[in-house]
Amino acid sequence: MSEPQPRGRASVEQRLVVAAAEMIAEVGPRASTVREVARRAGVNHGLVHHYFGGKEGLLRAAMTHLVHEHERFATDQAQGRPTPAPLALLQDQTYLRAVVRCVLDGEMDLAVTELTEGVSMPRRALEHAEEKLGSPADVRLRARVERVEPGRAVLVGGETLSAAAVIVATEGTAAARLLPAEHRGELAARRWKGTRLIAFAADRSPLPSPTLVVNADGGPIDNLTVPSDVVSGYAPPGRALICVSVRPDAPTDDDALADAVRRQAAGWFGDAASIWRRLAVVRVDHALPDESPASRRLRAPGGRLATGLFLCGDHCASASINGALASGRRCAEAVLATA
Ligand SMILES: Cc1cc2nc3c(=O)[nH]c(=O)nc-3n(C[C@H](O)[C@H](O)[C@H](O)COP(=O)(O)OP(=O)(O)OC[C@H]3O[C@@H](n4cnc5c(N)ncnc54)[C@H](O)[C@@H]3O)c2cc1C
Repeated sequence: MSEPQPRGRASVEQRLVVAAAEMIAEVGPRASTVREVARRAGVNHGLVHHYFGGKEGLLRAAMTHLVHEHERFATDQAQGRPTPAPLALLQDQTYLRAVVRCVLDGEMDLAVTELTEGVSMPRRALEHAEEKLGSPADVRLRARVERVEPGRAVLVGGETLSAAAVIVATEGTAAARLLPAEHRGELAARRWKGTRLIAFAADRSPLPSPTLVVNADGGPIDNLTVPSDVVSGYAPPGRALICVSVRPDAPTDDDALADAVRRQAAGWFGDAASIWRRLAVVRVDHALPDESPASRRLRAPGGRLATGLFLCGDHCASASINGALASGRRCAEAVLATA
């Protein structure tokens, strides 16, 4: 027996939101049609425009609904603890599928509804950490450190901060300058890989979906991405931001580099690439620790260096965000073990 037609605004909205949430999780936001959502909800599709202003408004309401359902689910799972176990996300399959479908459709604004709604679980964990540290935590932004010692960090300008544990989490070259000589190890001897990035503005993205394009042939381009395909706010409406990482042997002159990149991109994407407008060329000299076997032998293990002094960063593990996180975790465990 089919469900009775909903009556009244609140119940029509609720039925539409639940049906849209199911569809996002099943087929993704792009393939969710207003007609099919309305059919599932058992209401006239004209009501979607009437109550939500159209498909976009309905999808936003549906993701907001899923986020709050997930928060309720995770709170139940936490059973009174301040944060739920990390597996709570995997157990909430509808929410997880909806987020993944949004990402695959390039609808990043929908995918990050958890953040815009201010109910994110990582944020809750951070707030809990802040409570533990003493509320509010003393967080200094844009404070440059001049040197560190066990239990002390001296800021540029002379202020000294004392702590039971000082963790140096900078890139390896900076750590080599900050640490006392006896704790520097081989940090300064480690080689680094640099790169150059060139950014362009274009009328439209050259890619059909958010994609990392990795060049397997010759030419100046190493890889190419369109960040505005992932987060629309990275470019003004109707424009695209294109970022290209170039190879070490690409032209050194900025104009020649832009021309060479446009030429190669035009071979891939057509003539539209030849009028991409150059925005900036950024040189990153210490992009990554060199991972050649000779250089890797110099890798610092990280963790505890002395009582009250710890070290972490990608240079202590594999040269990647993953390596930086793994090293940070090991370092935190070392701090806890000595607390
Ligand atoms: C262009 C580019 C693209 C990349 N792409 C990828 C990728 O796709 N995937 C991937 O896994 N990795 C990628 N990486 C590598 C990744 O970004 C790094 O491995 C990672 O960010 C290292 O993290 P970290 O915390 O060790 O150091 P960092 O992220 O370098 O953080 C160190 C921090 O210390 C601060 N600092 C330094 N000196 C001082 C001081 N004296 N006082 C106060 N603060 C200081 C710095 O300002 C910085 O914020 C890329 C890197 C670059 C440059």
